[in-house]
Amino acid sequence: MQILIATGNAHKLSELSRVLPAILPSGEKIEYKSLRDFNITLPEETGTTLQENATLKAAYAAKESGLMALSDDTGLEVDFLHGAPGVHTARYAGDTCDTKANNEKLLHALDGVPLEQRTARFVTVACLAWPDGKTQLFEGVCPGHIALGYHGTNGFGYDPIFMVDELNKCFAELTADEKNAVSHRGRAFNKTREFLLGFKHI
Ligand code: IMP
Repeated sequence: MQILIATGNAHKLSELSRVLPAILPSGEKIEYKSLRDFNITLPEETGTTLQENATLKAAYAAKESGLMALSDDTGLEVDFLHGAPGVHTARYAGDTCDTKANNEKLLHALDGVPLEQRTARFVTVACLAWPDGKTQLFEGVCPGHIALGYHGTNGFGYDPIFMVDELNKCFAELTADEKNAVSHRGRAFNKTREFLLGFKHI
């Protein structure tokens, strides 16, 4: 069986390779393909929810490639900002997707807000799509706080300022395996993994 991973983000491809199964209980191997194998460019994320954006990417990739395709869409929801940046997380500080600018903007928006009011969560919606148009969604949530400053150097995006409640550490202070065990994406893809292995019917 082949599954196309519908992401252009190299960080995600490496995270996913640690979580998704290589072999099914039947003994059948799963081969993961990347967008580059098919020369597919994903459509604009024009949806107003994570669910819509994940679905539109996976459905497009499945239709174009003729393979089962897997996509994800992630948002950071900050309670003090009424759920922002949410679906706009990648481009919070503008269209350039500049990580440093995004982090600075968020810290600035929470200037003077005490830690107990900086509650937030990362949410990932993963979507498996089939070439015939069928889709299946999986959601993963990681509750946390926006830290008062930067901690750690690992990972990407908001990792240095997102403190995971369960570990009282920022994502950027964790190894890749520690992050996968608690992260929004790790949780969403663990559900995907269980679905693929046929353990659980969602
Ligand atoms: P995407 O939908 O997965 O591309 O995620 C949207 C944006 O959320 C990314 O551009 C990152 O800025 C941020 N993001 C997603 N996942 C993570 C994460 O695990 N750590 C930190 N930032 C993330």
